[in-house]
Amino acid sequence: MRLSRFFLPILKENPREAEIVSHRLMLRAGMIRQQGAGSFSWLPLGKRVLDKVCNIIREEQNRAGAQEILMPTIQSAELWMESGRYDDYGKEMLRITDRHERKMLYGPTNEEMVTDIFRAYVKSYKDLPLNLYHIQWKFRDEVRPRFGVMRSREFLMKDAYSFDLDFEGARAAYNRMFVAYLRTFHRMGLKAIPMRAETGPIGGDLSHEFIILASTGESEVFCHREFLDLPVPGADIDFTDEAEIGGVVSQWTAPYAATDEMHEEAAWKDVPDKDRLSARGIEVGHIFHFGTKYSEPMKASVTGPDGQEHFVSMGSYGIGPSRLAAAIIEASHDENGIIWPEAVAPFDIMLINMKTGDAECDRVCGELYAGLRSAGREVLYDDTDGRAGAKFATADLIGLPWQIIVGPRGVANGEVEIKNRATGERQTLAISAVPGRFGARA
Ligand code: ATP
Ligand code: MG
Repeated sequence: MRLSRFFLPILKENPREAEIVSHRLMLRAGMIRQQGAGSFSWLPLGKRVLDKVCNIIREEQNRAGAQEILMPTIQSAELWMESGRYDDYGKEMLRITDRHERKMLYGPTNEEMVTDIFRAYVKSYKDLPLNLYHIQWKFRDEVRPRFGVMRSREFLMKDAYSFDLDFEGARAAYNRMFVAYLRTFHRMGLKAIPMRAETGPIGGDLSHEFIILASTGESEVFCHREFLDLPVPGADIDFTDEAEIGGVVSQWTAPYAATDEMHEEAAWKDVPDKDRLSARGIEVGHIFHFGTKYSEPMKASVTGPDGQEHFVSMGSYGIGPSRLAAAIIEASHDENGIIWPEAVAPFDIMLINMKTGDAECDRVCGELYAGLRSAGREVLYDDTDGRAGAKFATADLIGLPWQIIVGPRGVANGEVEIKNRATGERQTLAISAVPGRFGARA
């Protein structure tokens, strides 16, 4: 993409309404635009990040055996009356009436709807386990929308729902999602720590929030330092091997980790002083087992191997991709701007023409641009006629992992400079060596 053609409304000034760095940088880098309280449009740069985040989530959900569907945002209130949540949910739910005076709502979550899909088609234990997910906009009328897309009213969520014959099956489904989450956040360059979370009356220990440590986080968290070095399973992990998956979950749930709601002073005292990490955190995902809470009132059952009807045992598994885009910035930036981890960067490379209009600079940039793109790299080519200093500032602000800097002096020597955004390291490279250095994307 040529920057001269790219819709990138960069802000020079710091927007006053932004209280935290990710919100400030997302606005300044032209990623999002606020449209109302807790409501945002995603502009091209932001949309590219959001898509990358969603694709990683999707790949890991699929790898773990979940199947993607897409349910509507507007739901019928009737379904929610069946589960009893229409009255319970409270003011966060946006209630709507259509022209026929039918009660509708903008979905804050989809347990009822997916249970309705399930009960319409699945009748036998032989069709289990089943896990259906979608990535869809949600609306929650948050009391205090703030921090930009971190806590908005309309936000994107990946929500998965598992159906199993019994608790044992549901626990295996929970464990698969647990491991899928470890891989998902790890691939985004994040250290997300699973922390025990409240389960409500159905209880058990099957509820974990995945938390990223960041000083601007809304929750206070307590965990063992060991989490920072625990290994995350590779792509070859076998999701059909219950023992292997269970082993990973045991390892990742052994050290102490809890949010303030679940914090136990007694257990915390057992963690040696030097290993205690008490910090603030951002919740980026939540997995939750709730058994027959919806299947019973909504009569979602299957015939078991014993010939009897069983209400299915369920769980739900959420991730907030829009919140994640901000959380990644909270975890990865410096005073000059965003530092995108490669996996979610909106482009791989910023190609900077320091002197647009100079025949040689234009020629070298044109050739590099074409060559890198045909090698499958995503390149943002700054072909504008701004000053070099302003171009560097833009490049650092939007934070692509690599910059290739093409100037008249270098070009005369057959050289360009490459800069790693994260380390700031610069290196001079022969022009002919650039294609090899930035070969095809893995
Ligand atoms: P929170 O405690 O932050 O309000 P929650 O417990 O209500 O979150 P869930 O219902 O578990 O969240 O939703 C799953 C995921 O959706 C969360 O982990 C988070 O990443 C995301 N999410 C929830 N609410 C919002 C919001 N208002 N804005 C952006 N993302 C959100
Ligand atoms: Mg909430």
